[in-house]
Amino acid sequence: MLHFSFMARFLLPRTTFYCVPVPAIFENSKSSFSSISFKTHSQNDSFSDTKQQITTLCSKGHIKKAFESFLCDIWTEPRLFSILIQSCIPTNSVSLGKQLHSLIFTSGCSSDKFISNHLLNFYSKFGELNNAVKLFDRMPRRNYMSCNIMIKAYLEMGNIENAKNLFDEMTERNVATWNAMVTGLVKFGLNEEALLLFSRMNVLGFVPDEYSFGSVLRGCAHLRALFVGEQVHAYVAKCGFEFNSVVGCSLAHMYMKAGSLCNGERIIKWMPNCNLVAWNTLMAGKAQNRCFEGVLDHYCMMKMAGYRPDKITFVSVISSCSELATLCQGKQIHAEVIKAGASSVVSVISSLVSMYSKCGSLQDSIKAFLECEERDVVLWSSMIAAYGFHGQCEKAIKLFNDMEKENLAGNEVTFLSLLYACSHCGLKDKGLDFFDMMVEKYGLKARLEHYTCVVDLLGRSGCLEEAETMIRSMPVSADAIIWKTLLSACKIHKNEEMARRVAEEVLRIDPQDPASYVLIAGIHASAKRWQNVSEVRRAMKDKMVKKEPGVSWVEVKNQVHQFHTGDKSHPKFVEINQYLEELTSEMKMQGYVPDISSVLHDMDNEEKEYNLTHHSEKLAIAFALMTIPKGEPIRVMKNLRVCSDCHVAIKYISEIKNLEIIVRDSSRFHHFKNGVCSCGDYW
Ligand code: ZN
Ligand code: ZN
Repeated sequence: MLHFSFMARFLLPRTTFYCVPVPAIFENSKSSFSSISFKTHSQNDSFSDTKQQITTLCSKGHIKKAFESFLCDIWTEPRLFSILIQSCIPTNSVSLGKQLHSLIFTSGCSSDKFISNHLLNFYSKFGELNNAVKLFDRMPRRNYMSCNIMIKAYLEMGNIENAKNLFDEMTERNVATWNAMVTGLVKFGLNEEALLLFSRMNVLGFVPDEYSFGSVLRGCAHLRALFVGEQVHAYVAKCGFEFNSVVGCSLAHMYMKAGSLCNGERIIKWMPNCNLVAWNTLMAGKAQNRCFEGVLDHYCMMKMAGYRPDKITFVSVISSCSELATLCQGKQIHAEVIKAGASSVVSVISSLVSMYSKCGSLQDSIKAFLECEERDVVLWSSMIAAYGFHGQCEKAIKLFNDMEKENLAGNEVTFLSLLYACSHCGLKDKGLDFFDMMVEKYGLKARLEHYTCVVDLLGRSGCLEEAETMIRSMPVSADAIIWKTLLSACKIHKNEEMARRVAEEVLRIDPQDPASYVLIAGIHASAKRWQNVSEVRRAMKDKMVKKEPGVSWVEVKNQVHQFHTGDKSHPKFVEINQYLEELTSEMKMQGYVPDISSVLHDMDNEEKEYNLTHHSEKLAIAFALMTIPKGEPIRVMKNLRVCSDCHVAIKYISEIKNLEIIVRDSSRFHHFKNGVCSCGDYW
């Protein structure tokens, strides 16, 4: 008989109660290990019945029962250990698995590499890396399966170096080995290395499967490497995976992340088996490419095609509503969230909190936040950001203190929200304290976004030199945005010398950036250096740089009306124009003086004034005043920052019309009421 030898080795007398020793692997572990007793049994006339019985019990999840009946046959069929160990994973039976390990150890089966591999897998699945490593080190016979499991375990625990070393030591590998390593490298952001490994795998003759393609395409997407992605696409087609739904979605994601929306869309549309994942991929891609109307259109199409949205769908759709600032639509989707039973999903609530905040309804954000019982750090951060966006810095800070009281540690996003809130309220010292706290108390690494917030904080409060020193000495390399942040601070504090220097830095990184040209031109214009203004404009023309036109939106009776600066295309333009003229003269009687110094062109004052009056936000407000019932607040959204003249003008309008006007610009919210703005003229 096959297992006679090990029975003889242990010389177990029949019907002896035997206490299982704790294997050496647990000697130092804190896990409570209960010794178990069992009865040996050498009769196995009906062994195949027992095997069948155990397999059935395991498949139904009755792991304890299976274990009990197995104890009677333990010495006759050690291979059943594998079935039991495997069943411990889906049933979360950690302590039972450890008891099995003891039995395996005692029964002398630990030299069986199949059983050991199942044990390795068991430990790695439950995150017990130390036990997995000890077991692996003691395995007398390993195969590539053992190594594959260990590589995944190392990667799961974030130990990329050990995973790499083990991979390099392996003499025999299969596709799963390569997949594990490529996936791991992508997961840790080592995308270039992942691409190199993928190509090495192909050189060595391993044919990739859907998982290999999925991972390598994710790597291309992170790098936004369109050219490499296209090459992988060709290879996908060659290997016959073009219509595989997993690979198809990864391909579409890669194209859309790299900015090629139409290619991504085409792949999804050609997929023979369209599913919810494909719809979600498409909507997320559209949102990434700032095609927010497209997200909402596809959401309707998806529902018409009979698919039910899940939490991922909701997050894409809700964030599109917040970008478009369509409060009505956002509320409608909130109702659908409740109907779909997703109103307790924290990620969905977080996006609802930011949506309401960005649509100007801070009260609804607070309500959604308070209604959620299990708040995570993302939700807290969203609420802190919402307060910051509305200029309520004190409340943002109080919320952070509440969060600390609940023993929740803030992450990078939380601190970004706090820094943002401080910079928009001019709380320089408080903001700098938070920056230190993040690095010193929380041990978080400051990213470029954090530095940008601090530069904004310093710049706005006039510490221009300090801000410039920070950019030049920070450990991460500067991008155009951080320099632009300093550039606008130079404009506010009228430091021309630094502005010129900083503008050069911006244009060195991004020669096509229209905002920098406009800013430089603005600085020259306010000093009436028209010669320099026209030079800048010529440079823009030569480099084919187009200034982003000012656009404002206002929602009236469920319809969004769009206004471009100086645009005469609105069907009610004549009426709007007349209304604006009357309004302007009323404002002038109250003391309003148009700030013509901010106009970039060298033209006469009358022209300049006409130019100012027809800024997109003024057109939108005039139209709203003509159509929205009296007393209702007006909500206007603008793609760029509100200019200083419009800011003054809207203050007058709010006083004259005794009305609340809420303007969201590219940087924050302004609540105008009784002639003052919530930003305290600080934006
Ligand atoms: Zn304006
Ligand atoms: Zn304001």
